Amino acid sequence: MRATDLDPTFISHAPGYWADEDTEKWSDYKWQLRNRVNTLSDLESRINLTDVERAGVLLAGNKLAMSITPHFFNLVDRDDPNCPIRRQIIPRIEEGWTAPEELADPCGEDSHMPVPGLVHRYPDRVLFLVTDRCASYCRYCTRSRVVSGVGEQHLEMNWEAAFKYLEQHTEVRDVLLSGGDPLLLSDTILDRLLTRLRSIPHIQFVRIGSRIPIFLPQRITPELCQMLRKHHPLFISIHTNHPRELTSEVRDGLGRLADAGIPMGNQSVLLRGINDSVEVQKALVHKLLMCRVRPYYLYQCDLITGSTHLRTSVAEGVEIIEGLRGHTTGYAIPQYVIDGPGGGGKIPINPNYMIDSVPGKVTLRNYEGNLFEYPDPTPVPDGVMEKLHHRALHGCS
Ligand SMILES: *Cc1c(COP(=O)(O)O)cnc(C)c1O
Ligand code: SF4
Repeated sequence: MRATDLDPTFISHAPGYWADEDTEKWSDYKWQLRNRVNTLSDLESRINLTDVERAGVLLAGNKLAMSITPHFFNLVDRDDPNCPIRRQIIPRIEEGWTAPEELADPCGEDSHMPVPGLVHRYPDRVLFLVTDRCASYCRYCTRSRVVSGVGEQHLEMNWEAAFKYLEQHTEVRDVLLSGGDPLLLSDTILDRLLTRLRSIPHIQFVRIGSRIPIFLPQRITPELCQMLRKHHPLFISIHTNHPRELTSEVRDGLGRLADAGIPMGNQSVLLRGINDSVEVQKALVHKLLMCRVRPYYLYQCDLITGSTHLRTSVAEGVEIIEGLRGHTTGYAIPQYVIDGPGGGGKIPINPNYMIDSVPGKVTLRNYEGNLFEYPDPTPVPDGVMEKLHHRALHGCS
């Protein structure tokens, strides 16, 4: 961590490692995508790599690709292998070891797909996977079995079959577009997709899950915002884990989305050595509010293969929530959840504030550890209401 990571300020890290490029190219998202760091030689020409990382990069080739936008790469510390940005996107040899509790499909998505790419787990909403590509790849990705296109399994999609399923299932009122990253699709394709979903009368609410505002804020063009705002009510769930990720470019991109009337939530993953402290989480959620983004979920890291070096205990997550609740703005506090391994869905995990419960009352503790009793309502004794009634009508005291 750097001392400045905890400052509530938004800075640009450009041009950073790309000092020779002109700024016009820098702000072109297509240039950013074309110039992603995705080879060992490119990586080694820019930062001092450790053996653990070098071996990890070689291994990543047939598991989950390495790919990092220049914008995001600029947040990487050149010399510090424990840099919280570096550990999210540069592979390490530890990814090659699968712990006994780990799974290729930790949330049991493949077994809940009535149509390829459509996960229907909850009664009224679906997860619609619309692409297998992202602007950069997170080493802990819960869908690493299918994203990036280099692993053994490929993401099967059939949009027409998905639309047909949604039309037939009138109980679905909420569609969450994810992948991969839906904002990597072109404006035209996204527009067509959203228009098609909006033509289904029972779909009330559409959300897009995207890490593009963080990896590639240049993609949040005025044209994109203009198109998205035609499809309201539309929400966006962004994904950011560390306050350094909230640069001035990211703040401006998020501002354009907010100005287009799009409510935004953030999903973070609790990651060991990256954001597993109250001070880092606090800095993150405060900066998010400044960007008009409401912290939504803090995920316990899924049991994805090769993730032991990035996972924390559940107790550490509870401790972080404990350190936020009461100590800062309620709007700043995400719900901590564990996605039930094998397909249980999101299960909320909270510090225990109700320390006792007996018939008639509960005993609570507040954020400072002080105790309070809250009684159940007292039943009104017989005759009291009659007496009050009489007094109201006949006015005696
Ligand atoms: C996360 C998720 C959703 C959305 O859940 P919310 O709690 O409404 O955000 C829907 N379907 C699946 C399969 C999910 O994993
Ligand atoms: S952006 Fe999302 S889908 Fe893409 S690699 Fe990261 S966590 Fe996975």
